[in-house]
Amino acid sequence: MIEVKDVKKKKSNDNSVFGNSSFAEHEQVMFCYDKATGLKAIIAIHDTTLGPALGGTRMWAYQSEADALTDVLRLSRGMTYKAAISGLGLGGGKAVIFGDAKTDKTPEMFRRYGQFIESLNGKYITAEDVGTSTSDMVAVRDSTKYVTGLPETMGGGGDPSPVTAYGVFMGMKAATKECWGSDSLAGKKIAIQGVGHVGENLVRLVSEEGAKVFITDINQEHLLSISQKYAAEIVPLEGIYDLNVDIYAPCALGATLNTANIKRLKCKVIAGAANNQMADESIHGKLVSDKGILYAPDFLINAGGLINVYSELKGYDRTEALEQAKKIYDTTLEIFKMAKEEGITPGEAARKIAELRIAAARTVGA
Ligand code: NAD
Repeated sequence: MIEVKDVKKKKSNDNSVFGNSSFAEHEQVMFCYDKATGLKAIIAIHDTTLGPALGGTRMWAYQSEADALTDVLRLSRGMTYKAAISGLGLGGGKAVIFGDAKTDKTPEMFRRYGQFIESLNGKYITAEDVGTSTSDMVAVRDSTKYVTGLPETMGGGGDPSPVTAYGVFMGMKAATKECWGSDSLAGKKIAIQGVGHVGENLVRLVSEEGAKVFITDINQEHLLSISQKYAAEIVPLEGIYDLNVDIYAPCALGATLNTANIKRLKCKVIAGAANNQMADESIHGKLVSDKGILYAPDFLINAGGLINVYSELKGYDRTEALEQAKKIYDTTLEIFKMAKEEGITPGEAARKIAELRIAAARTVGA
């Protein structure tokens, strides 16, 4: 969701597609319109070298079409990296529907949207995302089979958050091993920003391992209930950046890490679920590294959700999805090794590996 906030900050008036600063050699961008249902959507297919482009559909009340376009282009590119670094046979894509998810959506709109997806013949596969839910995907399923994130009763994987949280947990343990020599979280002080679907599962996992957990959230009622359930200590929203903790886990929105609050951090590790955690990774990735903080790249360690929906394509098996998410531990350690050897940030190392995988597949296919 924050990706949107970040985009708003840029406030680009650039309505062009090829000239958009976030256009990264996308293979295909499809604009979908249907007067009867009020559907206005953009499907962005970034890269299908490794497989069909899989990525969720976001429904959001964008301030402008330029904002929506920039958002979908950035997100779809991110999906290419996430799939490639996770070793999945998938490419990267994403879609956005213009509108307020609370007031503007109808099953007819999603059925019509499904027809557009169907017309791409499997090049793009959708799933739920911010503003869309399992029930919307059920409506999409009426028009196309190229949809995941379906309920368990329909052979789907249901809520992917527990698998996402497990992957983040494994990435966090890998970072702990790299930083302190042991991957045990027992006794570690961990600050978790945002205790929603993923955050709560992460609180549970790290608490079970004996960590001391600090939490914050804008939803005070929910925060209190999580605090009571897991004996986690509540901290103020802004205060989370000043805590004397070992690990900071951003699990709320993206782009929360900026020059000002990175200076305040006292942790040794950043490992969380939010997408695009740094406002500008080219600047803040280096800033974090220079401060001696080990950063577990977000798109690598939060890939559990993608792994979960990928599993649906082959016949859903949660045990298998969790096994696949467990591999995030080894991959994260490999990334840290490469980053050290090459004198680059872990984020740069992860992107480099993803790009090499795609380039290698292109060579084989050529
Ligand atoms: P969610 O909406 O269930 O939870 C987010 C929580 O953050 C909410 O409780 C919300 O109140 C809180 N929050 C919002 N703004 C905040 C702020 N400024 N400070 C503190 N708390 C704030 O979302 P989720 O599904 O748990 O996803 C969390 C993050 O992980 C998102 O960035 C999402 O894109 C990313 N992610 C989720 C999945 C998944 O499987 N759900 C997969 C990959 C990445």
